[in-house]
Amino acid sequence: MNSVLRIFKRDKLRVFLVICTSMLGNLLTLYPITRVSYIVDSIANSTLTFDDVIREIYILILIGISKYIISSISDYFTFIGYYNTMKNVSEDVQKSVYKHTPILFNRISPGELISRSTNDIVDYISPIASFGLFCFMEGVVYNSYITVLIFSKSTLIYTLLIIAPYVIQTIYLYRRKSYQEVYYDKMLKTMDKITDETLENVKGVRVIRTYNLLAKVRKSFVSKLNIYTDNNLEYMKKVKLFQPINMLSTAVSYMIAVIYGFYLIKNGEMTIGGMMSIFLVLTLIQWPYIALSQFIISFIETKKGMQRIEEIENQEVLVNNKEAKYELNFQEKIEFKDFNFKYEDKLVLKNINLTIGKGKTIGIVGKTGSGKSTLIKQLLRLYPIQNQSIFIDNKAIEEYYDYSIRNSMSVAFQEYQLFSKSLKDNILFYRENLEDKLEEALVNADLKKDVDKFTEGVDTLIGENGLSLSGGQKQRIAIARSLISNPEILILDDSLSAVDAATEKNIIENIKNERQGKTNIIVAHRVSAVRHADKIVVLSDGEIIGQGRHEELIETCDWYRELDEYQNKEAKKNEEE
Ligand code: ADP
Repeated sequence: MNSVLRIFKRDKLRVFLVICTSMLGNLLTLYPITRVSYIVDSIANSTLTFDDVIREIYILILIGISKYIISSISDYFTFIGYYNTMKNVSEDVQKSVYKHTPILFNRISPGELISRSTNDIVDYISPIASFGLFCFMEGVVYNSYITVLIFSKSTLIYTLLIIAPYVIQTIYLYRRKSYQEVYYDKMLKTMDKITDETLENVKGVRVIRTYNLLAKVRKSFVSKLNIYTDNNLEYMKKVKLFQPINMLSTAVSYMIAVIYGFYLIKNGEMTIGGMMSIFLVLTLIQWPYIALSQFIISFIETKKGMQRIEEIENQEVLVNNKEAKYELNFQEKIEFKDFNFKYEDKLVLKNINLTIGKGKTIGIVGKTGSGKSTLIKQLLRLYPIQNQSIFIDNKAIEEYYDYSIRNSMSVAFQEYQLFSKSLKDNILFYRENLEDKLEEALVNADLKKDVDKFTEGVDTLIGENGLSLSGGQKQRIAIARSLISNPEILILDDSLSAVDAATEKNIIENIKNERQGKTNIIVAHRVSAVRHADKIVVLSDGEIIGQGRHEELIETCDWYRELDEYQNKEAKKNEEE
């Protein structure tokens, strides 16, 4: 209930205006009907004068104009609610999602997140604020007016008997709501899966084609669509059952009105004019009860939709600023002290002791899966960590606001993300104030020579709808993106794996020359990328098995020496070829 009320609390003034205008509008709709009994009875008693007729016509015109104005205002404020709610709830979801690091996706899949924050909000949540509110006003306020009107022209028992079939119908539909909720829930969960699968299929379209798996993927997708359609049909059947029930209520109500009405007229408890008014009202009474049922349906859908939204909002923020009291202004060193890290139950980093001094270049090497990326992700505070085991300038990393840490760092990730935008926009990445540094970043990332060959230069569109780039070019865009802000700490996470040896050499040289006094952390597969680092860390199976300068490691670390020898041989072979 509270989840639904929350929507209305967000725009109280609008709801208040809708209530006032629709109360007034409904009153004006029914007023002419009350005049019917007066006119019919005056004709029957031969007391109706010409002046009375003119007066009634004036009243009707005035009411018509007022009703038009009031309804227009009411409709505007009712239907604007749909867009207000869509905007408000979408903003709420965005806010809560961005409180999390990507570990949120271990608990709520991207597909679930998308279907909840688009499909649920657009189709099931927002309508309650407009159509739902309209139905509520018609079902409650208009309905009450009609009931009072019938009562004013007849007796209490007659009124109760006429509305009884509709009241029974509403109670019956309300009691069936949990039954409908089951199908509705299944329907939404299937939609989550469909969105997830669509997302994965779009991302993996190349792999799917390469492995000739189109038919299989399509079959799996269609089977989910079928489940969705079946559940939707079941849900619709339950909702549509309402129509025959409503027709039955109407028939019974009419029968009672006619039979009992004649009895009342015969006994002088109701006038013929009164009966005519009631018959006019009976043509109107069906709608408010339809509206009430529509409101119940909309309420069920909104409640479920909001519960799904609140499930996202209530996710515990595992990396938070609870202990934070400082903004990071990196001065001295980063230290890992006896640091361990687990993904769920899997221990991935063990007993890490490492110091990274300001202004130094650190290389990290190791086999795939040895924990290199996991180690640098700790600096970005992307995962909750064991307390008091990473220190920056002698203070625990938890004592710094996470945004201030991230402001001091720039990363080119292994899984770089490029967008279907121009090359320039991909590098600037919403930081328009850095535009004058673009040229420098292109040069330092050794990308300038490639961009000069593109006919549109930095404005060349890249991605699905633009130019297809080589893996090395894409990596260098990610490197340029991280270099352009001249960050205090630069992290290249295996970002040189797809560039050739000469390009790698250029980039490393540029970093060395242009980033004097700044800190660089370079994760690499090739020794050549870290050979000149102030310190190289060798990771194996989550443990540091060697650290020192290149020459020291050649002496002390067998694995490093063998890697260096092997890569030197390979390089020589390549040169000879
Ligand atoms: P590297 O960068 O050296 O290739 P990673 O840090 O990516 O290694 O991975 C180290 C280990 O942690 C691997 O065994 C990998 O399977 C595991 N791992 C990496 N990311 C996750 C994750 N998000 N959840 C669970 N395990 C992970």
